[in-house]
Amino acid sequence: MSRRELPPVPERLPVPTVDSHTHLDACGATTPEGVRAALDRAEAAGIAAVVTVADDLASARWVAEASGWDDRLHGAVALHPTRTKDFSDEEKAELERLVRAERVVAVGETGLDYYWDYSPPEAQQDAFRWHIDLAKRVGKPLMIHDREAHDDVLAILESEGAPDEVVFHCFSGDADVARRCVDAGYVLSFAGTVTFRNARALQEAARLVPDEQLLIETDAPFLTPHPFRGRPNEPYCAAYTVVGLAELRKQPVEAVADAARRNAERVFRLRSGGCEIV
Ligand SMILES: [Zn+2]
Repeated sequence: MSRRELPPVPERLPVPTVDSHTHLDACGATTPEGVRAALDRAEAAGIAAVVTVADDLASARWVAEASGWDDRLHGAVALHPTRTKDFSDEEKAELERLVRAERVVAVGETGLDYYWDYSPPEAQQDAFRWHIDLAKRVGKPLMIHDREAHDDVLAILESEGAPDEVVFHCFSGDADVARRCVDAGYVLSFAGTVTFRNARALQEAARLVPDEQLLIETDAPFLTPHPFRGRPNEPYCAAYTVVGLAELRKQPVEAVADAARRNAERVFRLRSGGCEIV
């Protein structure tokens, strides 16, 4: 079997849940038909709703439009920290317009990435502060990308004053960072990385997060959960992560799926045709 082949669609989860962070355009689902097919596959696995996330301006334009194509789809827009080197006033004005679109439910992904050096730390920090302020002005949750920058992300949130709802997408800290996030009232979103065999510190972190503060995501097309690591990822693969997370938290699968759905509905205020999604 080729490593580039998509994993099988798993058995449907016993209760529906939400993929809180994916990149459908990067998965190749860029047309209304492609989006619908990806969402159908997700629904077959019990993933009833999906938040697709932009990381640059072109993607943000696409997300603002595509999130209106299907009741199961919602969007998030921001400029990814690695792209903030020459963040212009024109780009800020356009992002601010796009983030106000009705089905754009979050400002993200923004934050700090000290792993790549495409953008200097100062430019990233300025852009992060701008996005924090934007989230507060538009009253939408802040979706954070934090790669090897836990201390600075937490310090900037504290000094700027965090918005009401803060999500750490693809949480990657250890138990100590998780406890600091939990105590601050932030929500921690777990991706396929939590199922990786060598992810001991992350798994320890995932065990201590209260049910009310956890989300599930794919970050597709990246971070495909165990045992399909290295293969392409899609929103339906969130079901594998739910099962893995339930196992390591010693909870029933339905408890984790249901908590992640309720939290996503609360944090992102998800609605479909005027009522709760499920
Ligand atoms: Zn992402």
